[in-house]
Amino acid sequence: MPFLKPDRYFSRITRIDIERDLLDCGFTSVLMDIDNTILTRDTHEVPHDVGVWLAKARSAGLRFCLVSNNWHEGVYQLAERLELPIVAKAIKPLPPAFLMALHKIQAKRATTVVIGDQLVTDVLGAHFLGMKAYLLQPLVEQDLPHTLMLRHFERLVMGNAKPEETPQTAAAPTQTAAAPTATQVTEGDR
Ligand SMILES: [Mg+2]
Repeated sequence: MPFLKPDRYFSRITRIDIERDLLDCGFTSVLMDIDNTILTRDTHEVPHDVGVWLAKARSAGLRFCLVSNNWHEGVYQLAERLELPIVAKAIKPLPPAFLMALHKIQAKRATTVVIGDQLVTDVLGAHFLGMKAYLLQPLVEQDLPHTLMLRHFERLVMGNAKPEETPQTAAAPTQTAAAPTATQVTEGDR
């Protein structure tokens, strides 16, 4: 299933080296998932090291647009806080939202990478449009029931694949995602 295979696989966004893994690869733009990619599903926070990484990437000249299937007010508030454009209610992996996001930041598919924590939304959606996709391990195991179901399928596809190791020179995360027991979030918790 090559469409579902991420181009790169990292344990956390901070493991992506901005120079080596993005700029040197020719990427100028990033379409970024929100939930469990930069925002924890349990506490709804952007971890400090993730916020720092985003700021560094932007000052390095990368352009970002958030692309989320989430339809709650919180994602719009997050976009405002981060001062980033957003396309929410995206219905990933379908192409329209990705195309809208590309248009918002005047980005080209060839120089854009999609970063997210799900194969069937982020990776598949990127590949439908011929874009590269970097998969991340989710920030926390907690997620919506249908996402947890999809994760079983994702584990089958990924098999024993391990995220890339960070070279000694790359920034180490200040906080690592522990492996808590998977628990479900209901819409009412939001
Ligand atoms: Mg996500």
